Parts: sequence; C-alpha cells; structure tokens
Amino acid sequence: MTDKDNFSSIYEYVSSLPVFSDHEHQRGDEFFREGMSLEKVIANSYIAWTGFVSDGTRESRERFLDNAGFNSYFTWLEKGIQKVHGIGSRITLENWDFISDTIKKTYAADPDFHWRSLLDNGYERQILDTFWDPGLDNGHPEVFTPAFRIDKFMYGYNASSVAPNDFIPWERYGFSGGSLDDYVEHMRNIIIKQYRKGKVAAFKCAEAYNRHISFLPDDYEAAKAAFNKPAEEITEEEKILFGNYIFNRCCELAAQLEVPFQIHTGLARLSGSRPMNLEPVIARYPKTRFVLFHSGFPWTNEVSGLAHNYGNVCPSLTWTATICTSEAVRALHDYIDVSCSINSITWGSDCFVPEDSVGAMLAWRYIVATVLEERYTDGRMDMKDVEILARKLMYENGRRLYLKKI
Ligand SMILES: [Zn+2]
Repeated sequence: MTDKDNFSSIYEYVSSLPVFSDHEHQRGDEFFREGMSLEKVIANSYIAWTGFVSDGTRESRERFLDNAGFNSYFTWLEKGIQKVHGIGSRITLENWDFISDTIKKTYAADPDFHWRSLLDNGYERQILDTFWDPGLDNGHPEVFTPAFRIDKFMYGYNASSVAPNDFIPWERYGFSGGSLDDYVEHMRNIIIKQYRKGKVAAFKCAEAYNRHISFLPDDYEAAKAAFNKPAEEITEEEKILFGNYIFNRCCELAAQLEVPFQIHTGLARLSGSRPMNLEPVIARYPKTRFVLFHSGFPWTNEVSGLAHNYGNVCPSLTWTATICTSEAVRALHDYIDVSCSINSITWGSDCFVPEDSVGAMLAWRYIVATVLEERYTDGRMDMKDVEILARKLMYENGRRLYLKKI
C-alpha cells in the first residue's frame, strides 16, 4: 500500500501535493487594485512577449488568438485563467468580454485575491524577486519569501550611475562615497542586514539580459580605476570589469551566508547567455551553490553537463515548463539522470500575475507526472520511488534549499 493508492493516476497524486516555487515576480497590491481585465492579464504574462497583444479591439483579439493561440505560454496561461477564475471554456472572440468582466469583478470584490489565489490553487510558498525594488515580500509573508537581486550593486561605479528600473544604487542604498573597498563593505552590510531579518532566501542575478554571463576573475586595479569615474569618462569595458568584481564578491557572500545564488542562464541576450559561459565561475567558487535558472533554455543539455560535473550546481526548471513544455519534459529526465544530488532540482513559475503563475504550476504538474509515469511504465521506478521523487520535485527540494527544512 502506497500513498498513491488513494489516487487514480500519478498525475492526480502529483496534483495533490503542495507546490514550492523557487522564483517569482508577483506584482504588489497596487497593481491589482484597478483596471484588471483579460487584456491586462495577457499584457503582464509571457505570451505578450510574442508581440501579439490585444488592445481591446476585435481585430487585435482575433490576431492574438490566431497567431499565439498554440504557443506554450498561451496553453498554460489559458488553463491558469480557467482555474483561477473558475471558467470552463476556452478563450474565444465570443466569450472574451465575459471572461474579462469576470476577472474585473473578482479583483474588485477582494483586494487580497491576487496572493490568496496562489495559496488556494496549490502553492505553499514562492521565492519572490522584486527586481524593481530588491528584497520585498510585497507585505505578504504568508506566501512570499524574498530573494535578493544583487544586480543593482553591479552598476554603482559612481554616485549618479543608474541601474535598470531607474535605480541609482548609491542613493537608494545610502552610500555617501569612499573607496571601492568601502562600497563593497557597504553592500555586504546592506545584504547581511536583510539576511538577519530573514529576507534573503537566495541571491539572484539576471544580468544575462544586459551582458555576457562570463563573469571573469577579479581585475582589482581595473575595478578600482573604474570606481568614481565620471559618466563621460567610464568606458563600457570598465563597467563590465567593475560588474565582474562586484559579482565575484557576491559569490563569496552567498557562500558565507550559505544561501543559493540564482543565475539567469539561456534566452535573454541569446548570444552571451549559454550556461557553459558560467563554468569558470562555478569552478572558482566551489562553496557557492549556483542555481542555474531556466535550464539554460535552449541549451538545457549544457546545464546537464554542469550538474553532472559540479556538486555546487542546482538545475532549475523555473520558467522552462512554460517556455517549452516538451523540452522541459526532456530536461527533467536528464537532470534526474545526471545531477550529483536529486535534492538539487527545483522549479518556479517566474510570473508576475496569479493567472500565469497558476497556469505554469499546472504545466509543472503535467511535466513531473509525465516524466514519472514514463519511468514507472518502463520499469526504471516502482511506485514508492515515484512518490519519493514527486514530493522532492513539488516541494521538498525547494524547502530544503531555500528554507533549510523539509
Ligand atoms: Zn525571473
């Protein structure tokens, strides 16, 4: 007799388990207060990245459904909308206004709906990356635990330098000037203070959107020379060298605090984001646990190679499940086969709104159940193994890695 005997299928068993997400960008309360509609949900979901967003006209809705209606992002977003709002039908031109109105009324009736619906639909916890203002839990510690996005510090080469999201690191972090060493010390103190408040479950770097991810070894003299240089004098190369120096200090601090360091690999700026670019960093800091996000899609096999060779690599299928469902099934098979520890594999939805996040969770359940079913059917696993692995993939690995408990 196994736990699974109480369920009619592996999928049903997987779906009964709580879900831990290693990475999210859920918007704050204010975002959901006004103007919620099907258009707003779509505009803030990954399907909008196809460029086919609806502007409210019948023509744009038709174009959206015709062009993007079979994309993996759409498939799971639609299921998420159905689940979150209790809608039984597919999205069509005919019922579009009805669905939009349902969304509007639901949010208007309950100001807590956006975070409660995550818990109500299976999530037990989400690690939150508020990159626009690093370190927030959006005021809802019941569901969110913050990761700390360290990227902004990599832009603090002078008092007025601006990081993405119009973020001026010196001003926002209260650094009043001094040497490069003073700046690093200030950064360490800011992060350690947050950590002591229980608000740093992980470090996160998504600089793959802005630069090549080969963060080279220190060039201290170059970083020192770049520091305090006026905007009109500092070169792009000096900015990169400065960024490398700060990134390396963060690798050390992550090891010191024993928090995982989540790194965006794959997609973003495709030309510089291959996971193999990170190998020297992974080798240089063996005590830092690097969580390689997005399975390095489309180079999921590079993450396999790194997870095979390095015990400090944790492969994460965060976002991969919805980028490309079929590739996520293959990647999960591979990571189970090759990772140094089965306890290192995690997943997150990487979403901004609950409909996209819940849809992604349904994708993850489908992927985990499909992989376990295949292994059970071909005799590589018995039902007890299926249960053990299902629990690890759905929540135990996340709890162990980020909350240090299971
Ligand atoms: Zn993300």
